[in-house]
Amino acid sequence: MKKLSTVLFLALTFVGANLFAQTLEKCGTMHNHAELQKKNPSLASKRQSVEQIAQEWLKNNSTKKMTVATIPVVFHVVYNPSIPAQNVPDSIIYSQLQVLNDDYRRTNADTVNTRPEFDSLATDVQIEFCLANVDPNGNFTTGINRVTTTANDFSFSPFNNAVKKTASGGVDPWPATDYLNIWVCDMYMGGSPFVLGYAQFPGDDPATDGVVLTYQHTGYRPWDAAASPANLGRTASHEVGHYFGLRHIWGDGDCDSTDYVTDTPNAVEASQQICTLTNNTCDDAIAEPYWNGWDPFDMLENYMDYSTDACMNMFTHGQKARMWSFLNTDRVSLLTSTKCDGPTFINEILPTSSLVVYPNPASNGITLEWPGEFKFERLEVVNLVGKTLINENVLSAYAKYTVNTSELTNGVYFVKLVNGNNVTVKKIVIQK
Ligand SMILES: [Zn+2]
Repeated sequence: MKKLSTVLFLALTFVGANLFAQTLEKCGTMHNHAELQKKNPSLASKRQSVEQIAQEWLKNNSTKKMTVATIPVVFHVVYNPSIPAQNVPDSIIYSQLQVLNDDYRRTNADTVNTRPEFDSLATDVQIEFCLANVDPNGNFTTGINRVTTTANDFSFSPFNNAVKKTASGGVDPWPATDYLNIWVCDMYMGGSPFVLGYAQFPGDDPATDGVVLTYQHTGYRPWDAAASPANLGRTASHEVGHYFGLRHIWGDGDCDSTDYVTDTPNAVEASQQICTLTNNTCDDAIAEPYWNGWDPFDMLENYMDYSTDACMNMFTHGQKARMWSFLNTDRVSLLTSTKCDGPTFINEILPTSSLVVYPNPASNGITLEWPGEFKFERLEVVNLVGKTLINENVLSAYAKYTVNTSELTNGVYFVKLVNGNNVTVKKIVIQK
């Protein structure tokens, strides 16, 4: 609490001053949580009950074999038209989704950087993320909801959730039972980073549920020196960890504070945007029977620390179990959400029903046929996260076209026929 009041005092007193760079709190989740509890005192007991239910689930399901969960995501890009940079391009959103998928499936390229002593503790969390293709009204969506605002920034959103409310210049969430809502907006304060993101824990108010990212640190942007060292999209990996119930690995206190996970070594405080791998701030050998006399270094590789994006590369088995305990209790509705399974057409000149695609599932080639009066310029095949993998010119005289899919791996894709702004989309499956 001392830390919170210090930050708040500085924030309120020195708006515009350059002090924020020094008082940067990478993550505003605990500030936001404290504010929510202050406004709603009954939240503390509700959170406690959600925690208990999740822990009980974990006790009874510790050996349960997990399948892969796919979580529908909507990105709300909230921007002021007079500040075009706030309206981040689709490519940044796609790269953010890719980072989340890599980090939560441990397919990230930098797993080799996990120190050998932590290697056996690191794991594939078996959670994936897809861009929603059905909006709350049942209509097609790209999963990217662009909303204009008159606000210049949302620097106080960690304290008032302004970006999550249409009434305060942001946008209301889509139902939290079906979507992971991620707002992307400007949370810089006086032109400097203040918090890079914040999340809401399971069990809090559904009207403000989700994750908020400051746009300057959204997506994979290794070229962006100004966003360094938080420029590799891992603010989102950290915040989504909170969304699934994870705490900071130092337990937001001293060496005695817990993150409710045994296989993350204790740390006395956050590693503030550093990667000093010799840090060992607590003696785990004596304090924690789990380590059996070993005193490991602080785990700066963990996404739930405050280390640099380049330093982070792992979740532990204990963190995975904790996330799944919430995913099977308070957040269980996400497991059956169909918001990535909808019809994929956008209503244009050619009705999707008139586009015939065969064979489907396909292996090395797929043929499209459509009535000759409809003309197209281009054919694209995109994957579930919206990345274009095939892009070919289609002569407009053609009413039949075969595309070579031999380079595609097994999975679900969308084939798009494009003519100017008119697009017809069909879902295809590659199975070899
Ligand atoms: Zn955090």
